[in-house]
Amino acid sequence: MPHTYLTANVFCRQMFGEKVYKLALSASTSCPNRDGTVGVGGCTFCSTGGSGDFAAPSAFPVSRQIDEAKRILGAKGEGLKYIAYFQSYTGTYGDLVLLERIYTEAAEHPDIVGLSIATRPDCLESDALAMLERLAAKKPLWVELGLQTSNEETAKRINRGYSLSAYEKAMADLKVLGVHRITHVILGLPNESRADMLATVKHVARYTDGIKLQLLHVLEGTALAESYRQGEFRTLEPDEYYELVADALELLPENVVIHRLTGDGAKRDLIAPKWSGDKKRVLAGLNQVLRAREIQPTKFSNTF
Ligand code: SF4
Repeated sequence: MPHTYLTANVFCRQMFGEKVYKLALSASTSCPNRDGTVGVGGCTFCSTGGSGDFAAPSAFPVSRQIDEAKRILGAKGEGLKYIAYFQSYTGTYGDLVLLERIYTEAAEHPDIVGLSIATRPDCLESDALAMLERLAAKKPLWVELGLQTSNEETAKRINRGYSLSAYEKAMADLKVLGVHRITHVILGLPNESRADMLATVKHVARYTDGIKLQLLHVLEGTALAESYRQGEFRTLEPDEYYELVADALELLPENVVIHRLTGDGAKRDLIAPKWSGDKKRVLAGLNQVLRAREIQPTKFSNTF
């Protein structure tokens, strides 16, 4: 049965009237799953960059980070519109006054049309929600939560440090604010079956406005790397991943925005699966499977 899915590209063109680009920025936040508040060591797959390895140096003020990130884009970055993307660590944890100042500076930058902030469900108390509400009044706001799995046993194994009910509550609270809610899901977590992974996708589909599907990467310097070297699990093969993505897309309602279909780990730190480092090959393989299964992106239309 043919199926369509809504890409972030089309969603952005609908929302902003043109193609927009993400600038990876850093607010110098920390993470309660690393500093001992919730846990130590962090999630087992998380790199030392706090899953934000492409951000501009956090020591810079935001306006300088924006300039730096645009400079990296080069001439093609001139005259474009951007989303300020704060992915690393936990974007609503720590000194909220300072964080709000940083996010506001980004929101008020003339080239920035929207904000995207990644955080944890257990870091969305009333003061953090109030901050997000004020930011959402300035510019469209996306909030990204790293659930990874709906399976509580896997969540313990990866040391996620919060329960599924915390995610569900956070999604309900964010819905009240009217922000665009994105859920991060990892396919291929240790000991998870195909059924487990698809159960996560099904569960997330009930709550989220957008989803990022990511292949599990084993990165140097993570707890997962040690476990992988001990032979405790294997990573997915390309065809397994492509078929899983196709299955996931078929499960998701056609209005859920697909923000990502592959991973984006830092190549220098990638231990496994090595095939995922060849992005062109991954996209070609994935497209082939999606085409064969008649799964297509929604076409952009002004009347959409
Ligand atoms: S919550 Fe995010 S930043 Fe913190 S350890 Fe887990 S993946 Fe890393």
